[in-house]
Amino acid sequence: MQNIPIVLGIDIGGTNTKFGFVDREGRCLADGAIPTRADLPPGQMFRRLHARAGELLAGLGPAVRLAGIGVGAPNANYYKGTIEQPPNLSWRWVDLRAELAPYYQVPVAATNDANAAAMGEMLFGAAQGMRDFIVITLGTGLGSGIVVNGAMVYGFSGFAGEIGHTIVDPAGRLCGCGRNGCLETYASAGGLVLTVADLLAESAAPSALRGLDAAGLSAKLVFEAAQAGDALALAAFDRTGDLLGWSLANAVAYTSPEAIFLFGGLVSAGDLLFNPTRRAMEANLLNIYQGTVKLLHSGVPAGKAAILGAGALIWTELAKGGPG
Ligand SMILES: [Zn+2]
Repeated sequence: MQNIPIVLGIDIGGTNTKFGFVDREGRCLADGAIPTRADLPPGQMFRRLHARAGELLAGLGPAVRLAGIGVGAPNANYYKGTIEQPPNLSWRWVDLRAELAPYYQVPVAATNDANAAAMGEMLFGAAQGMRDFIVITLGTGLGSGIVVNGAMVYGFSGFAGEIGHTIVDPAGRLCGCGRNGCLETYASAGGLVLTVADLLAESAAPSALRGLDAAGLSAKLVFEAAQAGDALALAAFDRTGDLLGWSLANAVAYTSPEAIFLFGGLVSAGDLLFNPTRRAMEANLLNIYQGTVKLLHSGVPAGKAAILGAGALIWTELAKGGPG
């Protein structure tokens, strides 16, 4: 068979940029990664990416044809195809279409990494067939992608769906965005560690985590302690799940999702996180929503999720007749 369309999915991260060629069925045919090096101009990264992606594409042989490029990146603007003031990259403003134009003459679509994860869930994951759902990515921060009536919510600015930056405590922890008390300062890997520090300071109860300095504490250690039955570590997961579940109950009031998918590093804690989150969400839902919202694990394979999400974004745009 000849002329099989494939897309290039690119996930630009603070440290590494991952990319891969994805077919319409969500198979990643070849993939690679390069250091992002955001200390250098973005053109430098795209030149290196093109060189490596070109090798991979050549390796796929003459039967395939590149149909489009999807990009997931922090603060990527869906409408403009730009990255604007990304929190973890020193680039201030990047025009993705202009950067890619010298190398590829195909449609390009971009959105933030959490929205891309939601597109991946919709096209290739556990949200297939769903028209209303939310994907929450729990890693170093909290990202979210919201799909309503079958379409991703981009909003007026192109930056809609930032549940991680809804304020749960106006007098709370300082967030990377410069404000206080954002959900992601509590419901994230870093937030969990800060909650352990709070709990250690609040009581003298014995804990395997006591005595570790703040730098030595990690979400992984808290998880291991909780698995071993450490009461303080379990309390930290409960408090994290409480705030997350409460916030999800609020999110349900806006869009009435069929399901909420949790995805990312912190989700490997499984029931330790899901149980208190589900309990707090259900306890705080408006009565008309009670018992209607499923809280589920992502159905996209974790290792390739970012590439598949970026690929799903451009596949969706191509199905609509092309981005922009
Ligand atoms: Zn914030």
